[in-house]
Amino acid sequence: MKQLSLWEATEKGRKHREKLVGDQTCEVVIVGGGFSGLSAAYHLQKQGYETAVLEKGRIGSGASGKNGGQILTGYVLSMSKLIKKYGLPTAKQMLQLTLDSIDLIEEIVKKNNISCGFHREGHFQAAYKPAHVEWLKREQDVLQRDFGYEVKIIGKQEMQQELDSSFYTGGSIDDKSAIFHPLNYALALANLAEEQGGIIYEETEALQLARRPDGKIKVTTTEGSLTADQIVLVTNAYSDDLHPAISRSVIPVESIMIATEPLPPDLLKRLIKKNRGIYDTKNLLYYFRKTDDHRLAFGGSGRTAGRREAKQLFSQLHDGMIRVFPDLKECRIEYQWSGKVAFTKEKVPYIGQLDDGTHFAFGYAGHGAAMSTLMGKLIAANVMKTGEGKNPLEKTALTPIPFYHQHAKAVSVMKHYYRLLDKLF
Ligand SMILES: Cc1cc2nc3c(=O)[nH]c(=O)nc-3n(C[C@H](O)[C@H](O)[C@H](O)COP(=O)(O)OP(=O)(O)OC[C@H]3O[C@@H](n4cnc5c(N)ncnc54)[C@H](O)[C@@H]3O)c2cc1C
Repeated sequence: MKQLSLWEATEKGRKHREKLVGDQTCEVVIVGGGFSGLSAAYHLQKQGYETAVLEKGRIGSGASGKNGGQILTGYVLSMSKLIKKYGLPTAKQMLQLTLDSIDLIEEIVKKNNISCGFHREGHFQAAYKPAHVEWLKREQDVLQRDFGYEVKIIGKQEMQQELDSSFYTGGSIDDKSAIFHPLNYALALANLAEEQGGIIYEETEALQLARRPDGKIKVTTTEGSLTADQIVLVTNAYSDDLHPAISRSVIPVESIMIATEPLPPDLLKRLIKKNRGIYDTKNLLYYFRKTDDHRLAFGGSGRTAGRREAKQLFSQLHDGMIRVFPDLKECRIEYQWSGKVAFTKEKVPYIGQLDDGTHFAFGYAGHGAAMSTLMGKLIAANVMKTGEGKNPLEKTALTPIPFYHQHAKAVSVMKHYYRLLDKLF
């Protein structure tokens, strides 16, 4: 088995990019070469700003090159929870933001003929227990009544329309979501930013930030420095202590994925009927989809505080896949990989500009494949001060998570608790 993501194994359009060596200048320095940073660079370059992206690995080394490729509507919290937290008017704007995110990706993909397996056929949230179908029905009522938004609920008898699996008891279909090959999209976005004149440095870690007396920001890197008028910091779950106010507001949680060998197309079509993203209603959820090269890509939760051996977790994920699709018992797993997903304390993304001038966006909570492209565009608007960056997720100050250094232990405790809840309810 290859310790490599399926996406890396099937990547297209990667270019060699240099390290930053020596001292350089630009208008906007962007730290982080994932969807957020590349989208910010692309949108700024289109308006004539000179940008440089600093990426400590290669494009897509972070979550953008490793995710499940599910471009989803909504948030990790249900819309009814968001109404309770923020009120209906804000919740409406928040839902719209996720729909706009998907439209933006579709527009970028279509306009630039990006070959990244983009299919907009919706998503299916599979119910693990009969009570979960009832919960999905209540959520459907809220969506219809308060948002004028339609989803379709199916019961166990209609499950064959979506999945050939008795593991689930029904679920909710939302037609607005999409799937793609995440790394090929990231690589294409990087190429687009460069075609507009942007510079991308790879293997270049931002090590230190210093504000100069003239107001410019100097970023010291592994082998040089970049001095710019403005800084965008979009390192998400891979944030180290470069900017403590940001890194201490992010909770990184590991997620792991496996991909099967190519399956007979008829078998795959029988197991999963549509080109939809699928995730379930468990607290420790499974997420999966088919790929254009006829594999099943299947994900779940990863290590916490180094407590469990990665090997054991991958084997448990494989067992989970077989429980969902017993027909895949004999099929070979060809790829396995892991990455980090970012959460905030409120479980909704944060975007904004801090007092020290730093622009940021992070904490997409497993929904960043959709949201991060739009967040990059909104950051670009904030940098340009066009006023179009205004949005309901905006924050002007960050409150570090209390006992931040204990977060790995806290996540581990939460996972045990969630596992118990999944057994009970
Ligand atoms: C296994 C997995 C499955 C997922 N599945 C889904 C899914 O199906 N749907 C969905 O919506 N979301 C999913 N996600 C989440 C999604 O991938 C992220 O929300 C999204 O990619 C975030 O993009 P980003 O650009 O903000 O961050 P990233 O892509 O993580 O980019 C941050 C970059 O910053 C770089 N960096 C960090 N520090 C420095 C530094 N000091 N100097 C220079 N560079 C630095 C990192 O190397 C990294 O490349 C998944 C994530 C994982 C890990």
